[in-house]
Amino acid sequence: MILDIAQFDHPALRTPGSPIQKIDTSLRDLVADMVETMREADGLGIAAQQVGLPLQLFVLDVPQLKKRPSAMRIGGRRAEFEPLMPLVLMNAEAATFGKTHTEGEGCLSFPEISARVARPLSVRVKALGLDGATIEFEADGLLARAVQHELDHTRGVLFIDRAIEEDRFELPDDIRRLVRPAPPA
Ligand SMILES: [Zn+2]
Repeated sequence: MILDIAQFDHPALRTPGSPIQKIDTSLRDLVADMVETMREADGLGIAAQQVGLPLQLFVLDVPQLKKRPSAMRIGGRRAEFEPLMPLVLMNAEAATFGKTHTEGEGCLSFPEISARVARPLSVRVKALGLDGATIEFEADGLLARAVQHELDHTRGVLFIDRAIEEDRFELPDDIRRLVRPAPPA
C-alpha cells in the first residue's frame, strides 16, 4: 500500500523516534508499505517519521552509482550492498568518520527542494534488521550519506537544518522558517 508522505511542517518529522520493541506482522506490513512508498516516489530512503510514525526505523534503497559511488564493509571486508537492498534498519546507532564532503541532497518530505549538506564521508552502523538480528557495517559515499540523512529523520532532524549556509539562504521563505539548529553530525 502506498502511504502518504509527511510534508514540510508535519509534526511527525520533528518527533524523535521511539525504539522498536517488537517485530510482528504489523511492523512487517508497515515496512513493506514504506518500501513500496519509497520506490513509487523514487527515493533512496524513507524513515518512519515520513509516513507519520515517530519510530527508530528507516529503509534504504541505494543503488551503486558511477557519479556518486558507495561502499560497504562487513567485518572489515568489502561487501556487495546492492543485494541487501531494500535494507531495513531499526534502533540504529551510528558513528561518523572520515573527511567531510559537501554534496546535494533531496528529501521525499521536501519535493523539488535540494540543498548541499556537509557530512562525513563514512559511517559505522549498528542496528537491528527485520529478522531480529543485529547488523553491523561500515559505509562510504552515497550509502553513508543516505544512512546519515535517514538516521537524522528518526531523531527529528531534517536535511534543511544541516544545509550549508549559502544554500539555506536560497531556500523558499516558507521552508527556511522551518530550519532548526542541528545537533552535531
Ligand atoms: Zn529525507
